[in-house]
Amino acid sequence: MKLFGVAKIKCYYKFMEVKIIRQKRKTMVLKVLNSQVAELHVPIKMSAYKIEEFLESKRNWLNKAQKRMLENENFSNYFDLQKYVYVNGEKVYNVNCLAMDYDNFTDEKKHKVLRKHYLSLFQQMEKLAYELSEKTGLTFKQLKSCDSTRIWGSYNSDRIMKLNWKLVVLPKRLAYYVVCHELCHSLHFNHKPQFWKDVEKICPDYKKLKGELKKYSFVLRTKF
Ligand SMILES: [Zn+2]
Repeated sequence: MKLFGVAKIKCYYKFMEVKIIRQKRKTMVLKVLNSQVAELHVPIKMSAYKIEEFLESKRNWLNKAQKRMLENENFSNYFDLQKYVYVNGEKVYNVNCLAMDYDNFTDEKKHKVLRKHYLSLFQQMEKLAYELSEKTGLTFKQLKSCDSTRIWGSYNSDRIMKLNWKLVVLPKRLAYYVVCHELCHSLHFNHKPQFWKDVEKICPDYKKLKGELKKYSFVLRTKF
């Protein structure tokens, strides 16, 4: 490993370049700039061995950071904000770009418009929730949209069910699973085996869907 200037670390997906920056400081700080480049700030006299040891101890962390960066980079490719966006898991024409001065919008404004568009589609989720509630007999007192970067939905003891508006981005089968999952919390406020048995009754594929949903967690984390 070359330790002055740039170190190349083999990560899970591809090599990551770590720029080693020597400066007046006492501790080492590792910053990931994108999926291919990181910076390691080290004290001026830190030995090559210590730097190598530190990088080695951070390998798992780097792998994870790289994975997250890659997901976000892929995601911004999906949402090129010009012509195409994702709705119900499918790439569709971004109708917003028909606005006369769309090309002159800042990225921030484009995000705002897209977000508004997604929120207008949230009624699809409401429809799904009411239909599934009727079909299964599992009820809620109130349905609300939520804007979490961690969870797709929730169901609390006041019987308020919340669904993340970003569900409209995902393939419909995944939104279906999330609604089934939350509806089953009307029976159990936990994730014990009986809860999953009830989920399975209304969503037999739930294990597969649950796994697939994990792959989309970057949608939750992305601000748009
Ligand atoms: Zn749950």
